[in-house]
Amino acid sequence: MTNTWQARSLDLERFADAAGQLSLHTPLAELVRVSSACDAGAVTGHVCDWSLSGETRGSDSRRQVWLRLQAGISLPQHCQRCLEPMSVDLTVDRWFRCVADEATALAEDDGCEEDLLVLSAEFNALELLEDELLMALPLIISHGDCQPPSSPALGDDLPHPFAALAGLKKPRL
Ligand SMILES: [Zn+2]
Repeated sequence: MTNTWQARSLDLERFADAAGQLSLHTPLAELVRVSSACDAGAVTGHVCDWSLSGETRGSDSRRQVWLRLQAGISLPQHCQRCLEPMSVDLTVDRWFRCVADEATALAEDDGCEEDLLVLSAEFNALELLEDELLMALPLIISHGDCQPPSSPALGDDLPHPFAALAGLKKPRL
């Protein structure tokens, strides 16, 4: 039996039972939430290479369903210090343990180290991919060894604090 797995509608339990593997190449433009966090003019041409693997661990009543997400992409960003364009390479490699429902996930979340997913027969792995990429994106994006732009013109546009003071210091006649 051949399985054609659909990343947007994945039966997690069947995928794990079959030790499913899925390799995908998704244009950044299709990852709407991630691309909206990027330099809009430079999204075209960027592709996310990612893969999913499923496996079961344990047996019978202790059987667990696990999903692994691996992804790599280079995102067009701007350096927050020098304001020049730069690319930020992100990689994700995470395992998730699947639980029966939301209540179980909430109950077990504090007591375990792994990330939990709620089992679904129509799991949207693109949502998960986008969540993980956004979480992997650093809060501060900078080259690390660059200088802020020196722009004398910028200074001239700002109101000069002493100009106002000078106006107050009119000679008293
Ligand atoms: Zn920079």
